[in-house]
Amino acid sequence: MPNSSSIGTMTVFDIVVIGSGPAGTTTARYAAEKGLSVLMVDKKQELGAPIQCSGAVSFNALDNAGVFPSPEFIQEAIYGFAIYNGQGQKKVIDYRKIKPGEYGSEAGAKPLGFVVDRRRFDRYLATQAERAGVTIWLKTEALGYRVLDDGSCEVALKKFNDTITVKAKVVVGADGVQSQVGKWAGIKTHIKLSELASCLQFVVDGVQTEGLLEIVTGHEWAPGGYAWVFPKGHGYAEIGLGVTRTMCTDNAQVYLDKFLKQSFFKERFKNCRILEIQGGGVPLAAPLKIQHADNLILVGDAARHVNSITGGGIHTALSSGKIAGNFLAALLLSGEPCTKENLKGYHNNWLNAMGNNMWKLYEVKRKIFDTADIAQRDEQLYATMSNYFSVDSEYKKI
Ligand SMILES: Cc1cc2nc3c(=O)[nH]c(=O)nc-3n(C[C@H](O)[C@H](O)[C@H](O)COP(=O)(O)OP(=O)(O)OC[C@H]3O[C@@H](n4cnc5c(N)ncnc54)[C@H](O)[C@@H]3O)c2cc1C
Repeated sequence: MPNSSSIGTMTVFDIVVIGSGPAGTTTARYAAEKGLSVLMVDKKQELGAPIQCSGAVSFNALDNAGVFPSPEFIQEAIYGFAIYNGQGQKKVIDYRKIKPGEYGSEAGAKPLGFVVDRRRFDRYLATQAERAGVTIWLKTEALGYRVLDDGSCEVALKKFNDTITVKAKVVVGADGVQSQVGKWAGIKTHIKLSELASCLQFVVDGVQTEGLLEIVTGHEWAPGGYAWVFPKGHGYAEIGLGVTRTMCTDNAQVYLDKFLKQSFFKERFKNCRILEIQGGGVPLAAPLKIQHADNLILVGDAARHVNSITGGGIHTALSSGKIAGNFLAALLLSGEPCTKENLKGYHNNWLNAMGNNMWKLYEVKRKIFDTADIAQRDEQLYATMSNYFSVDSEYKKI
């Protein structure tokens, strides 16, 4: 079991991970499994709470990251998609019908993906990390880091009410969309308002779903984004949307209210009861061009590792966390210092495994939302979304 050590009163770790979402927990776990001492901190006092996510994630995303699809966090199995244009015309992509035997609920078949409970999912991921030897400190906010002359760095932390400093060879900024960690190292992390989706969703009772992720495109309902209806398990559903504020005349709440009361789903929604309200920002931006500095790397939302077409960031956070954890383990075990030059290897591995494709998805998204004519833009988004989730998707190959 990897352990921290102490110099005088200072605790020393190989790695300090800031943030315990999917990116941080996965980075921490992969590094600890290779024998490194890892501290993961989060300013929250409860893992994954408050929930700011719909929790849709593919079977393959979990599988690639070595996460068993446990009933502990799964709320509903997903078998396909229904994509709507603004007028309600729909394209159903149900993998139970397209590939029966492979996808379904019968023995030998599997779901395409899941809607997970992010509170329980994040706790499950953190438990995996903790069992691999990661030390977890909750209610611990990272305040800053400083590169030291000996090639290591120190991180200032506020743990409950105490300010303490720990020493590490490298810091991982997995601190989400509002990341500050990159800024500490002078990395340009600014995100334009025109590339930030403002998301709001209601967890509701009284809306029927059929194991499909339903996506509603169209400027009228969600300018610069889309609306969704996801099954949530136990008869619940999530109804939400993401909008780009620079393309809107109102805020997300006004659009969600309009979607509930005026869209072609209004009859379907008319008896729904709102049980929870969740929201947050999603960066529909390009990945950061620089994601590393001396003794520091960024992963997940903090590095803008988000699929710009779907807005999904769980898959990409898990994948980049795995890449980061494996890379850091190899670098540190080789005895090489964590200089900016050496840490570029992480960025290169990430580009080769997924980053170059994420850049291409960003270009596709940008082309759609740069289209000035709203009808044309709506048409492109509907076609792209329908194509994206189809069995022959050209975007899956990017
Ligand atoms: C409404 C909504 C719906 C979404 N739905 C989906 C979906 O269905 N599917 C999907 O794939 N993606 C979805 N996303 C996106 C997804 O939630 C994120 O992409 C994903 O959580 C990113 O993971 P992460 O680990 O990078 O960051 P996060 O999960 O945001 O974790 C960052 C952590 O860092 C901590 N932190 C921040 N600063 C500090 C600090 N200074 N010190 C200590 N801790 C700190 C935070 O407390 C937080 O726990 C949705 C997002 C929103 C807002």
